[in-house]
Amino acid sequence: MSTISKACLDPWSFLLIKADGNVCLCCWSEPIGNVNSADLDAIVSGLKAQHLRSSLLTGELLKCCSQCPARDDTTTEKLCADVETYLNDTKKLYAVSQGKLFLKPKPSKHWLKRIWTSKLVRPLKKMLSR
Ligand code: SF4
Repeated sequence: MSTISKACLDPWSFLLIKADGNVCLCCWSEPIGNVNSADLDAIVSGLKAQHLRSSLLTGELLKCCSQCPARDDTTTEKLCADVETYLNDTKKLYAVSQGKLFLKPKPSKHWLKRIWTSKLVRPLKKMLSR
């Protein structure tokens, strides 16, 4: 088992349904099923999806991942820890961007004030004041 993997949480956080119905867990991997012939829940939890996820966790990368132009290398240990953090994040403190896990910034008081006083919020304020 390799200890090198890809810094990629896409298969746990991202879903792409193409116009032809093909379902992918990132922009670079092969489809894991097609919504025209199978239920989406079954596709997402199916063998192909599990295989892609487990290959990343074990470092036994599929060709698409080993040649992936979009994600950096990382250790399997770090990826496993990030996946566990993401899946157990009941408070929704984390987000995934470009495959990487990051702690969401807390909005500052300054930003909250700017949002609250912006034109965009006026219709909402009007609704709340009724
Ligand atoms: S490493 Fe690349 S090919 Fe593999 S799941 Fe992530 S984005 Fe897709």
